[in-house]
Amino acid sequence: MTRIGFVGLGNMGMPMCENLVSGGFDVVAFDVRKEAVEAIVEKGASGALSAAEAANGADVLFTMLPGPTQVEAAMLGEDGALAAMSPDGAWIDMSTSTPEAVDRFSAATGSEGPVMLDAPVSGGTTGAREGTLQIFVGGAPDAFERYRPILEVMGDPNLVIHVGGRGAGYAVKLCLNLLWYSHSAATAEVLTLGLRAGVELEVLHRAITASAANSHFLEHDVLSVFSGDYDESFHLALVCKDLGLAVDLGRHTGTPLELSALVEQLHRRARAQYGDRGGQLAAARLLEDATRTSLRTSIGEVPASEEDGRA
Ligand code: NAD
Repeated sequence: MTRIGFVGLGNMGMPMCENLVSGGFDVVAFDVRKEAVEAIVEKGASGALSAAEAANGADVLFTMLPGPTQVEAAMLGEDGALAAMSPDGAWIDMSTSTPEAVDRFSAATGSEGPVMLDAPVSGGTTGAREGTLQIFVGGAPDAFERYRPILEVMGDPNLVIHVGGRGAGYAVKLCLNLLWYSHSAATAEVLTLGLRAGVELEVLHRAITASAANSHFLEHDVLSVFSGDYDESFHLALVCKDLGLAVDLGRHTGTPLELSALVEQLHRRARAQYGDRGGQLAAARLLEDATRTSLRTSIGEVPASEEDGRA
């Protein structure tokens, strides 16, 4: 039986790991939070006391950690997982990280180390629970094909895609998030403006969604704001991490990102105001608070399955 190591049992990692357990894999899991390890053991996984223990003997090691700092600590730090891995194994990082981290890991393993793929995801906690995540995989095409059946246990088979060489998965994910938070900020401004100019929110929403300015964000994700839910399934600390990595990647690649830098700053202000655990739809909340305008309407009362943010 394929033996899987899994490190990082948070909002995303826990349900993803549960899907691997119920998919019949032999899973050994680790998180720095003991209670998370206890919870996954109750679901049928074995618990590990360190990332290295989860990696030891694994055919595939998955990491689902907050970002590059934690991935580096788990893989290369004291009792790091990379040194414990078999050279025949594979390490698949599903965290939202940056292509800039790839070189550090390649240098640590050399050409003889385990196969590495980056495979960050989209689809939120609902996608993680339902096993319908979109997964963007960077790395060697043959390694992608080899490990694709395991990825398809966590993702929608039609949405598990190979996007290029090592680091390309991270790059795609950062681009996607940057656009989503730009949509979030722009939508908040437009709706607040229309409302304050005297148009009913419902009418404004209907008019724009039927126009060429429509977006998936406007059609689906903003409905959560209409019901007063700023979506805490993805916290502002991680939003700022992702936007910071994206803007840094712009710097690294010499790409001017004027609008994106503003979107990053706006979310940093939201984090300072609402805290690390504030919800990801904070751009609307900031503007509502600043203008004392409430973006509430009954079209925000959507089925629970649609309430989860897409990031
Ligand atoms: P989270 O903060 O809920 O979970 C992270 C987990 O990692 C926690 O359980 C924490 O205890 C654990 N951890 C931290 N450092 C560790 C270490 N050194 N060793 C072992 N465990 C450690 O985060 P999340 O929402 O599950 O997100 C995980 C990743 O997925 C992030 O990169 C995030 O950007 C990305 N992501 C999240 C969502 C979402 O909707 N939540 C959607 C898509 C992608």
